Amino acid sequence: MWIELKRDDFLDAINRLKPKRLLKSYAILELQISFLNSEVIFCVNGAETKKPAIGEWSGFVCLRYGLLLPFLKIKPQSDPLKIEYVDAKIKIETARLTAKWIQKSNLDTQASIDAHLLSDQPDKINLKFCPSCGKKKGMAIDLLPIKSKLDAEQLRLQMLADNTNANTGCLTCGYVWIELVSN
Ligand SMILES: [Zn+2]
Repeated sequence: MWIELKRDDFLDAINRLKPKRLLKSYAILELQISFLNSEVIFCVNGAETKKPAIGEWSGFVCLRYGLLLPFLKIKPQSDPLKIEYVDAKIKIETARLTAKWIQKSNLDTQASIDAHLLSDQPDKINLKFCPSCGKKKGMAIDLLPIKSKLDAEQLRLQMLADNTNANTGCLTCGYVWIELVSN
């Protein structure tokens, strides 16, 4: 899993998430790094910042925010900068930072992040063309909000998809299917 973004965007993202008074307790807060629609999303304590990026990153990585702060003092050399997840570590140049990977399929347990991401950018979800009705209303099942936040269309889709291997479904006609290329 990897993401590549401009070095200055990376530094700006870390900097933006920094509160005015940097308390020790803040440094141990969890930072989540996710990747959606060609943007890397850095999120700490509900505050998030997004930067354009490329990569293969179908989940979330969580690590202590404080681990990234040294990069503000000793700036990375490479531009663009590659962030990799290897062997339970985030790798940025020579640095190896302990991190935890959360697969997209386990997103139910990450409901708050999920809901947070979706509520911020409801129109940014990449909808697919439905092979049944032809409308561009096919939505990845694991991008659906948590159950309590589903609207009627989404709830029907979730129920239709529950007992299948389908990963995508149509919000208009309710057809569910397996989309091979996600995103
Ligand atoms: Zn359809």
